[in-house]
Amino acid sequence: MGRSITRRDFLNGAALTLGAAVVPSSLFLACERHTTPGHTAPEQSLDYYPPAKSGLRGSHPGSFETAHSLRDGTFWQHAGTAADTGESYDLVIVGAGISGLSAAHFYRRFAGPKARVLILENHDDFGGHAKRNEFSAGNRMLLGFGGTYSIESPAPYSTVAKGLIEELGINVASFPKYVSKDLYSSLGLTPRIFFDQETFGADKLVVDPASLGGTETSDRASQTPARWHQFLAEVPLTAEARRTYYRLYHDQKDYLPGLSSEEKKARLARISYAKFLSNLAGVHEQVVKVLQAGPHPLFGVGIDAVSAQDAWGLGFPGFAGMRLDPSPGKGMNRDAIPNKEAERYFFHFPDGNASIARLLVQKLIAGAIPGDSPGELVTARANYAKLDEDESPVRIRLNSTVVRVNHDGDPSTAKQVEITYARFGKTYRVRATSCILACWHVVIPYLCEELPGKQKQALYSSAKVPLLYTNVALRNWEAFQKLGVSSIYAPGCYHTEATLDVPVSIGRYQCSRQPDEPIVIHMMKTPCRPGLPARDQHRAGRIELFSTTFETMERNIRDQLARMLGPGGFDPARDISAITVNRWPHGYAYEYNSLFDDFWLEGGETPCEVARQPFGRIAIANADAGAYAYTDGAIDQAWRAVGEITNRAVNQA
Ligand SMILES: Cc1cc2nc3c(=O)[nH]c(=O)nc-3n(C[C@H](O)[C@H](O)[C@H](O)COP(=O)(O)OP(=O)(O)OC[C@H]3O[C@@H](n4cnc5c(N)ncnc54)[C@H](O)[C@@H]3O)c2cc1C
Repeated sequence: MGRSITRRDFLNGAALTLGAAVVPSSLFLACERHTTPGHTAPEQSLDYYPPAKSGLRGSHPGSFETAHSLRDGTFWQHAGTAADTGESYDLVIVGAGISGLSAAHFYRRFAGPKARVLILENHDDFGGHAKRNEFSAGNRMLLGFGGTYSIESPAPYSTVAKGLIEELGINVASFPKYVSKDLYSSLGLTPRIFFDQETFGADKLVVDPASLGGTETSDRASQTPARWHQFLAEVPLTAEARRTYYRLYHDQKDYLPGLSSEEKKARLARISYAKFLSNLAGVHEQVVKVLQAGPHPLFGVGIDAVSAQDAWGLGFPGFAGMRLDPSPGKGMNRDAIPNKEAERYFFHFPDGNASIARLLVQKLIAGAIPGDSPGELVTARANYAKLDEDESPVRIRLNSTVVRVNHDGDPSTAKQVEITYARFGKTYRVRATSCILACWHVVIPYLCEELPGKQKQALYSSAKVPLLYTNVALRNWEAFQKLGVSSIYAPGCYHTEATLDVPVSIGRYQCSRQPDEPIVIHMMKTPCRPGLPARDQHRAGRIELFSTTFETMERNIRDQLARMLGPGGFDPARDISAITVNRWPHGYAYEYNSLFDDFWLEGGETPCEVARQPFGRIAIANADAGAYAYTDGAIDQAWRAVGEITNRAVNQA
């Protein structure tokens, strides 16, 4: 814990924690407000507060059915004629994720604060993947990140993205002030690996002898002989597996002798890390199983679908004697290219980057969220009734799935775009001078029939990575303390990661410091199908997530926690107070992979460049537009999209 804990660190489940704060006193009062004619508006109710919902969140029931019926070709059979709301905007944005919210913010810089902007969002909350989960434990508020975990990126933030973070008042360099980085280590807690009976023949929680991933020398230093000794004595692997496990981490062997560094990298870019381990390094198949889920937190697939070159970049074992030039090889995933400057730019709010979404909403809509600083905002309650008011120049309309976007006439000369959306079983139409599609690219061809075929194909190809981000509120973390555990990597289990939350205290939010205090633990699952190409694995995983009930997920969570922590006295019935499963069948933006995307290795036009071309009065944002699953990507793409529509406006003036 001597440094920032990035998403890369989840590769080994470096520990994080949840904090607790005083319940905010500023409860909002909903008043009678004007709403769009004909609209049912549950958002106006005093009780409307999505962050506090538990159970199945993320893409929650009610958020995706319309889009799926549009995909299946059944939507228009039942939709009836859309009611014209009579509204006309300067800009309509589809999607209230960080890209959509940033686009609204950037557009107002160009068009001024009076410009009329409507943001349509299919979920019941804003923020997209930047989702806030709130729990209450007595008089304390517990926060969790339901999606986007932190300000971090494999490459340095652009001037634009950094500028926005600063404009929101976030001082990234001040993060060390808020995090109790030594809390867990001071209590003797360390990362562990859980070996499950089904995969390894016995349920056993064993000390993790060496961090997967991580490039810091401190990670290597943590591979003390004592830890290795304990690991090898306790781990339920065969003698041969233990021997090759140790050898993999300690040998300095060159597995591709006689080749130059460049030739080796070219070979490593074309074979999976799993094949590297089995065929070149000759490790036992049980070792491959232990490492299988290592890259899940970054890529949503295991080592069968991650190149050996990327595994090298991520600091996985086996490359110490390969004498590879440290410069990035051709076709490396950006996540796998270490960058010191980027690593230093790290900030984690207790609700993750939902704080960024909330800060943007605060700027866009007066009175929507109280608080004078990012710290104050952490415990502030958003007033959802403010989001969609007639008198506000910027409006966010939740629970509204856009089903059609078309120009009012020939796209090259049309003066307006019509946007049709479905909301609680009815369809409505609004008009706008311009439209930014900041939604998932895979949805766009269904909304926008006018687009050229090649662009539609490129948009389809960006189907996202499915994930579960689960937050479990616990009454205490005494079992973690008794077992000396801060985080668990469980390669054979339903959730492959479970970790105490990052101990961050900010504003009035105080993290959990004593094991007898309540806490939230974060668990992660990526539903993949080892052996298939990455995109096929993601497709199968999406289907799995959509077809698994919350009851099944809950049972799996309780069972897994009981098995991992039972020896420390953990009792799920007594110790779990709430579970929120953030289901993201459409999670991380798909990032290109040298094993499956030839253009990434050989060069040439990437699908995202084709997909994000502006079309008439429509521009295309979202993290998908950069094939880059990071917040700064979402912001940069919003900036580009706003530039496209504003340049067009200037050129036509
Ligand atoms: C689980 C998870 C963890 C992550 N962790 C990190 C992290 O730690 N750091 C980091 O930098 N990045 C992280 N990322 C990536 C980061 O969250 C994204 O890059 C960024 O938030 C994407 O923002 P966006 O606005 O482009 O897309 P989204 O957040 O997906 O927003 C798009 C919105 O459009 C909506 N939409 C789709 N179709 C329609 C429609 N037809 N009508 C209306 N609305 C529609 C969607 O529902 C969604 O809310 C994470 C992503 C996930 C999924």
